Amino acid sequence: MTSHDLPDVPKPAADVAAHDDLSPASRVVALGRPARVPGAGVSPPLELSSTYAAGGPQGYARGGNPTWSAFEEALGSLEGGDALVFASGMAAVSAALSLAPHGSPVVASKTAYNGTVASLLDAERDGSHEVRWVDLTDTAAVVAALDGAAMVWLESPSNPLLEVADLPAIAAAARERGVLSVCDNTFATPLGQQPLSFGVDVVVHSVTKYLSGHSDLILGATVTASTEAGTALHDRLAHHRLLGGGIAGPMETWLALRGLRTLHVRLERATANAAALAERLHGHPSVERVRYPGFGAMVSLEVVGGPEAAERVADAVHLWSHSTSLGGVESQVERRRRHVLEPETTPENLLRLSVGIEDVEDLWRDLDQALRHA
Ligand code: PLP
Repeated sequence: MTSHDLPDVPKPAADVAAHDDLSPASRVVALGRPARVPGAGVSPPLELSSTYAAGGPQGYARGGNPTWSAFEEALGSLEGGDALVFASGMAAVSAALSLAPHGSPVVASKTAYNGTVASLLDAERDGSHEVRWVDLTDTAAVVAALDGAAMVWLESPSNPLLEVADLPAIAAAARERGVLSVCDNTFATPLGQQPLSFGVDVVVHSVTKYLSGHSDLILGATVTASTEAGTALHDRLAHHRLLGGGIAGPMETWLALRGLRTLHVRLERATANAAALAERLHGHPSVERVRYPGFGAMVSLEVVGGPEAAERVADAVHLWSHSTSLGGVESQVERRRRHVLEPETTPENLLRLSVGIEDVEDLWRDLDQALRHA
């Protein structure tokens, strides 16, 4: 592992490599558990101590905690690298952005998550970064913007337009030019794609969403490759977390690991539901346009009748939850432009659907009646 030069960051369990030949569905269940010695717990304990007796593998809990390590071991294995847990997805985004030197150019798209775009707009305004705004689906334009940049920020599929970027091509072009690539993998999850395997340098997650999966906590993560260069990035991110100080709570992290165990089955069901709903929505008289990238459980649709009609749909659902966020077992619907931070690239009449694991016929009946109501 990694953070030899940092105090208080515990090492992951030594037997991670023993699980390398297992499929992700098995690894996510097997990893992050106590060593199998007689009498040991099958599940990891929730560690609430802020400090530890001197001389052991960990000292002060702002730098590391065994519950963090258990979660990081499981997520790191799924993404194929070394994970760090952060207090929120935005804390992970901020840590990753801090890897670009002050004043340096960053290549990014205005169609990313609104919090990320707002952070980049702030950085542009106060001179922390020059931002080169690009269309991530136009690979040639992205590559042309890379020369002299410090970082390229990727989010694919994007929130909420569900645009897909050519991650392998952009990551390779970035590496050739010495540009750091970061990918927000919240929508795809590591079961959908593993950006590190495409040559991306840093993966970012809002763990709040699919990874924890139950809409009951806020958490984030970064993952970097287990190479020399990846380890150097990991150490800088761990340093940022240690000194930034806004750290993840052990309780949230423990719950996230419990949720992560079922990612595979949740995503399988939610994806099947989303694909079925996207197909039916295509022919619906109240729907102008459906966006579904062909994988994952997020669907966006544009409603006939403008933003007012879209709001009426969101207000008329019963089984679906009219609420912000995504990735939970429950299906959610929201008009994204109701948020002041949402970029103008998002159409006013766009509803974002986070499709959950309920019965697909129940979901369809409820959505259909709400759309007809509008
Ligand atoms: N990245 C994406 C793609 C998101 O959708 C979100 C939140 O919606 C975030 C990052 C921020 O995560 P959090 O709300 O956990 O801070």
